[in-house]
Amino acid sequence: MDREALRILIRDRLRSGRLPYNRPAELFGGPACDEICAACGTIIRDWRLVMEGVSGKEAAICFHLVCFELWNKERLVWDTERRRPEDVTLRMLVARLRGLFSWGARD
Ligand SMILES: [Zn+2]
Repeated sequence: MDREALRILIRDRLRSGRLPYNRPAELFGGPACDEICAACGTIIRDWRLVMEGVSGKEAAICFHLVCFELWNKERLVWDTERRRPEDVTLRMLVARLRGLFSWGARD
């Protein structure tokens, strides 16, 4: 799936409520173990990096790294009034994880 098609899919899922606007309370990154990506609906193969968000008692939400980045941008576009300074921290975390898991950025 190309980046533009993925962005449109993520926007649709945000609008329909299938993806949250709020960032998870906790966010982790690491090697995948065949999780299903919440954004694109495909399996995150075990050689890729998975971004996993957890909020309270809700089920964890998993993303490919590229899907996570697009979701994080799109949720802010559609919900700009709720933009918070900690979103800068999220972008820094992704950049840092890309450096640590450079093998996980392959598509
Ligand atoms: Zn994905």
